Amino acid sequence: MECIFCQIVKGQQKADVVFENDQIIVFKDINPKAVVHLLIVPKKHIKSINELEEQDKDLVAQMVFLAKDLAIKQNIAESGYRLTFHVGRGGGQVIDHLHLHLTGGGEK
Ligand code: AMP
Ligand code: ZN
Repeated sequence: MECIFCQIVKGQQKADVVFENDQIIVFKDINPKAVVHLLIVPKKHIKSINELEEQDKDLVAQMVFLAKDLAIKQNIAESGYRLTFHVGRGGGQVIDHLHLHLTGGGEK
């Protein structure tokens, strides 16, 4: 079975998508820990930060800049937010497909 985020990328699994371009998809976390909880996901399957390669530099930069834009759109830029990468089981990573959590607007 293919990874769940790859299935979402291919439209084989439902998600509440808030942004998409050719390289990145953003959808709402199914189990939100904050009022705003988005997952910024590269369409390319990269397991985690540990597996990043030099050629992924631009992709990661795009993810961060997109987080900044989405924070403005979600009205949490002023109040503040967190950007989180979980890395490996000890780092709390459950889904082995790179994703950046954008959380803010108060805990849920
Ligand atoms: P992590 O612990 O960093 O691997 O986070 C994985 C996140 O993905 C968790 O916050 C889950 O609630 C979320 N999640 C898992 N499956 C789905 C899904 N099908 N759609 C949206 N979010 C999901
Ligand atoms: Zn994947």
